[in-house]
Amino acid sequence: MSITKKADDMPAIYRKNYLAAVSGKASPRNAIKAFCIECMGYIRSEVTGCDTINCPLNNYRPYRKAGDSDDS
Ligand code: SF4
Repeated sequence: MSITKKADDMPAIYRKNYLAAVSGKASPRNAIKAFCIECMGYIRSEVTGCDTINCPLNNYRPYRKAGDSDDS
């Protein structure tokens, strides 16, 4: 799938950050955000609740709640 096709298919709210990430213009934090939201089918609450602790990005994922055990 091309970058353009993928961008067109995703919810518009996530498109700008995705395009910045794939062009090397996003911060590492925002690139992780782009990856995680795609991983969870563009459902933000699923990223919040992600319990895949064997994923290397888990401690860096966006949208965590304050007080998540992996915040410390
Ligand atoms: S931390 Fe969770 S949402 Fe992010 S890439 Fe890993 S499994 Fe997917």
